[in-house]
Amino acid sequence: MKRILVFVEQRDGQIKKAALETLGEAQRLGEVHGLAVHTALVGAALDAAAEELSTHKIDRLWLAEAPALRLYSPDGYTTALQHIAQESGADLILFSATSMGRDLSARLAERLQAPLASDCVAIRIEGKRLEAERPVYSGKVLATLELMGDGPYLASLRPNVFAAAAADTVDPSRIARVDLQVNETDLLCRTAEVKSAAGTHLDVAEAEIVVSGGRAMKGPENFAILQELVEALGGALGASRAAVDAGWIDHQHQVGQTGKTISPNLYIACGISGAIQHLAGMSSSKIIVAINKDPDAPIFQVADYAIVGDLFKIVPLITQEVRRMKGA
Ligand SMILES: Cc1cc2nc3c(=O)[nH]c(=O)nc-3n(C[C@H](O)[C@H](O)[C@H](O)COP(=O)(O)OP(=O)(O)OC[C@H]3O[C@@H](n4cnc5c(N)ncnc54)[C@H](O)[C@@H]3O)c2cc1C
Repeated sequence: MKRILVFVEQRDGQIKKAALETLGEAQRLGEVHGLAVHTALVGAALDAAAEELSTHKIDRLWLAEAPALRLYSPDGYTTALQHIAQESGADLILFSATSMGRDLSARLAERLQAPLASDCVAIRIEGKRLEAERPVYSGKVLATLELMGDGPYLASLRPNVFAAAAADTVDPSRIARVDLQVNETDLLCRTAEVKSAAGTHLDVAEAEIVVSGGRAMKGPENFAILQELVEALGGALGASRAAVDAGWIDHQHQVGQTGKTISPNLYIACGISGAIQHLAGMSSSKIIVAINKDPDAPIFQVADYAIVGDLFKIVPLITQEVRRMKGA
């Protein structure tokens, strides 16, 4: 292997945190195995993202820009990335296992007739082969995959697992543009509009601290006490499916098998029993704190800190203490 290519996901010119983590892992592999690290940005008006990216340690930044690619288009982005993959001669192409990364990596794998390992929590280069570890069966089993063939190999990396990329000095000579003619009328599928949810709350999948509430919250109004802790800690608000299904909180907050898979530094589960489908989305969090009045709740089996008691009494006390410590 000679070259790794990282697809860098950006939205409105802002690079996603998960993309910097994927780049960080590419840099680590590059250093260990003496491989060049190339990056790819696809979209429109990419100057700000390109500038930010060129402050990281990379050997080359490939830009595929076209007004028609302002919003994600499955076939448009696949075509752009296929050009870059071929021009860069990448042996390994890495994505973040976000919704876009999973979709795009599968499409590119099909176009290149190349093997793909998705949602990996570890990857290793063993000679000419790629070995990847990924959780399966809701995280009950860790499968090791071996990618075969002549390459290139594709892999998507789970967000919040890998260390983010190190910064470096800006070097504009690293930027290469691919000549791309993509018209909106050529696209088979394109995103017509992106509607942001009300407010500017941090996404659970991007936050380093997540406070989640379950069925024990009893109603939408009680999420306010969790929101206060979220704000004191500077994190994001999560929820179990029971709370989402009850209509107390939007699905974008759901953590678990049919919600988001997250690995924050700190996860605080409030009144959540710890069903296997919930654990599938959060058990790789670095530190887990569970508050539950049932001492036998399954969530305590994965918790680093177990608080047995009534969340309605405990959460406000924690919020108060966090505010006191922060001097707020
Ligand atoms: C195909 C499938 C996919 C699923 N996907 C998901 C998913 O993505 N995410 C997900 O979360 N679930 C998912 N589920 C549902 C999952 O099986 C559970 O039903 C759900 O996680 C339960 O939510 P809960 O823990 O909030 O509620 P419960 O299981 O009812 O637990 C509530 C907990 O709160 C505790 N409690 C009650 N009052 C208090 C109090 N005052 N203070 C402290 N503790 C209190 C109770 O002791 C209990 O442990 C899925 C299920 C299926 C079948």
